[in-house]
Amino acid sequence: MPVTIALLTQDLRLHDNPVLHAALAATDLVVPLFVLDDGIAATGFAVPNRAAFLADCLRDLDAGLRSRGGHLVLRRGDVVAETARVAAEAGAGAVHVAAGVTAFAQRREARLRAEFGDRLVVHDAVLTALAPGAVTPAGKDHYAVFTPYLRAWSAAPRRKPLPAPRRVPVPDGIASLPVPVVRPDSPELPPGGERAGRARWKRWTPGDRDALALDGTSHLSPYLHFGCLSATELAAGTADEDFVRQLVWRDFHHQVLAARPAAAWADYRPRGDRWHRDEGELNAWRAGLTGCPIVDAGMRQLAAQGWMHNRARLITASFLAKTLHHDWREGAAHFLSLLVDGDVANNQLNWQWVAGTGTDTRPNRVLNPLTQAKRFDPDGAYVRRWVPELAHLPGGTVHRPWLLAERPDYPAPLVELPTDRFERGRPR
Ligand SMILES: Cc1cc2nc3c(=O)[nH]c(=O)nc-3n(C[C@H](O)[C@H](O)[C@H](O)COP(=O)(O)OP(=O)(O)OC[C@H]3O[C@@H](n4cnc5c(N)ncnc54)[C@H](O)[C@@H]3O)c2cc1C
Repeated sequence: MPVTIALLTQDLRLHDNPVLHAALAATDLVVPLFVLDDGIAATGFAVPNRAAFLADCLRDLDAGLRSRGGHLVLRRGDVVAETARVAAEAGAGAVHVAAGVTAFAQRREARLRAEFGDRLVVHDAVLTALAPGAVTPAGKDHYAVFTPYLRAWSAAPRRKPLPAPRRVPVPDGIASLPVPVVRPDSPELPPGGERAGRARWKRWTPGDRDALALDGTSHLSPYLHFGCLSATELAAGTADEDFVRQLVWRDFHHQVLAARPAAAWADYRPRGDRWHRDEGELNAWRAGLTGCPIVDAGMRQLAAQGWMHNRARLITASFLAKTLHHDWREGAAHFLSLLVDGDVANNQLNWQWVAGTGTDTRPNRVLNPLTQAKRFDPDGAYVRRWVPELAHLPGGTVHRPWLLAERPDYPAPLVELPTDRFERGRPR
């Protein structure tokens, strides 16, 4: 019987999965294949937090496939060589895969094309709601500014979400590795997998997105990163414009990276920055010991949960790149070493946005951490939760412990903190 391979990458789901759907439509038997790619391991991207979350995703996907009469085929090695091996073992004709945006994914696709020729079928709009390149400004290959992209995105047709398959018949005798057991670095890491993601999505009611202590955002980012949830399905299934806007930010960064893969590490808009280097300062920032409580709270949330509130990401990143004027790449690399939703498009391009080398139309903007603390954590509850040394301090006093007569056991600020809203940090 003819067989098709559904090579899964960042689309670890049964609902609204065009790759799996098309493979099942093509032949009666399908091999749902995931390769623990040595190439990704070699880049250092598979850090414990994401590897542990991924292992949950794979276990959950396997369970979902088993309940539909099939199972996941898990291999380890070079993704192209392993796919070719499985194709030979199963006698498979075509290989279906989702289009990716990173340089790594683009290279993988080119290598798969060289191996399989026109037996490779690449699907758009699997990782994002709108495919990169689906809308472009006249004469350009991508949008460099968010607002016109949002307008074009909203007017563009999007595909309809696909149902989960009822049955996934897999050929007999295709060997599969057990899913590895991985210990995460962060003790409060969320559980991975499509079922956990869908449960979280159904449970979530939108709250104030910016109030740090209320924690009103969806926490769906790791599920979106690994494709346990589909951005297409989420966008189609909500009337909450604010939430859709966040999904459009995600698509926006993906279409920038798809067109400019080098923006993962090179300045998107170089401004001749001469970054400050000071390993001690950088380590204090990483450890949440800068002496600026709102910054330290964010960095400690990152360490504990492998996740950080968006407002805290903005504040901590601006503190490093704008106030201390350290190279955004140092900060981005630290985030990627812990973030369970760590994503090349979203992380690197948000860092560039904050550092002023990216797509922000106001690249000189500096977020004053004290003003931000006053606005988004007015009574200090977020800081008290994450910085226990300060937990006894009442209300907003927690944001300025250096003013207290009796100093808590907490470092003095690394730099004099700006009181003026428009303080520019170190000169560029
Ligand atoms: C310096 C910095 C680094 C970041 N690194 C990452 C990262 O590695 N991975 C990541 O997914 N997001 C990143 N973000 C974007 C954003 O902070 C997170 O997506 C968001 O905090 C995740 O929480 P949530 O799922 O509750 O978001 P919600 O507000 O509920 O948003 C829903 C979804 O929209 C997407 N989204 C929201 N905001 C953004 C944004 N600014 N850019 C792109 N997509 C967005 C996410 O997929 C998110 O899950 C970063 C932001 C900054 C400022």
